[in-house]
Amino acid sequence: MISEKMVGLVKGSSVIRAMFEEGKKMAKEFGAENVYDFSLGNPNVAAPRAVNDAIVNITTTDDPLHLHGYMSNTGYEEVREAVAEHLNKEYNTSYTENNIVMTVGAAGGIVVIMRALLNPGDEVITFAPFFGEYRNYVANFDGVLVSVPADTSTFQPNLEEFKKLINKKTKAVIVNSPNNPSGVVYSADTLSRLGEILEEKQKELGTSIYLITDEPYRELVYDGAKVPWVPDYYRNTIVGYSFSKSLSLPGERIGYLVVPTEIDDYKDVFAALGVATRILGFVNAPSLMQLAVARCLEEKTDISFYDKNRNALYEGLCRLGFECQRPEGAFYLFVKSPIEDEKVFVDMAKKYHILIVPGSTFACPGYVRIAYCVSYETIVNALPHFAELAKECGL
Ligand code: PLP
Repeated sequence: MISEKMVGLVKGSSVIRAMFEEGKKMAKEFGAENVYDFSLGNPNVAAPRAVNDAIVNITTTDDPLHLHGYMSNTGYEEVREAVAEHLNKEYNTSYTENNIVMTVGAAGGIVVIMRALLNPGDEVITFAPFFGEYRNYVANFDGVLVSVPADTSTFQPNLEEFKKLINKKTKAVIVNSPNNPSGVVYSADTLSRLGEILEEKQKELGTSIYLITDEPYRELVYDGAKVPWVPDYYRNTIVGYSFSKSLSLPGERIGYLVVPTEIDDYKDVFAALGVATRILGFVNAPSLMQLAVARCLEEKTDISFYDKNRNALYEGLCRLGFECQRPEGAFYLFVKSPIEDEKVFVDMAKKYHILIVPGSTFACPGYVRIAYCVSYETIVNALPHFAELAKECGL
């Protein structure tokens, strides 16, 4: 008999994952070219060549005892040093290996932070729309995820509502920019105001509130947009990063945390993150991948591929009468459902072999997410089916 908690989790398992499995089934039945699967944020741009070259080079030249052995729970010192130096160049910071924890992707990073920070009943605030897995990452440690309702006029965080929700139990706040699912980049103004509110509240309540910035899409921005470096706006910030999207390595499970020395209880937090990595059973991030990404920190994915998709899909759907948020980053388009219940709309789309994700998964009902990290042909071929769907919805 599985645990009571798991019974609920298995039943209400990820809508996105369920859709992805359904897409695979439909592809078998109707042929892959006749199914338009926009469900999962699985990059369709291959990892840069340099990643594979690095892997070959490391596996043929590195000492196998070093390459395949255990290491410090926070990762290889030389890898953490390389990451710190890369960030220092990019953001004019002065991090060292003692500010970096290598993680099992962004997911592994956030889970480790939650293990390190949360007592049962502690609250973590996030802003709708948000990546639905945050619910699980917080619930794993009996924390309570508190969601600030979306401001659907801009999809920037609703800071007035946020302020009202902060209390003595607030241990952390999670932000994600460029945002999954809205594609919005949180502005410097928003982050400044967010930082001010948190400083004020810390003083008023006499507590520490950590801001966790989840940034797997940091480099995936369009039209020259810049993603502000969040620790510049609030001292108690921990950054979570992942190579899943930026180097198209989601299956390899590799990322890192930046833990600035300036945060409250830095020494304890850093030590706790190492222990959390161990006791959650990760022990450490994958060794080969640590060494590979350390050599590829300057590599970039082909953003022009996603940009072409973004324009084709955004313009195509707007022309059909859909109301869409123009994405500034990531590879998702957030679209207003033309009928009230977006789950019904998602089911209608399935009839046209279009797989999209309901906004309620992201705590933003009335919207749907379309992941455009697919082939350009998928978008071009899907548009006539979107046209039929639009007609059925009366657009
Ligand atoms: N955070 C956000 C906002 C995401 O969109 C994702 C994956 O889609 C993750 C975290 C998890 O990423 P990773 O594969 O690095 O664990």
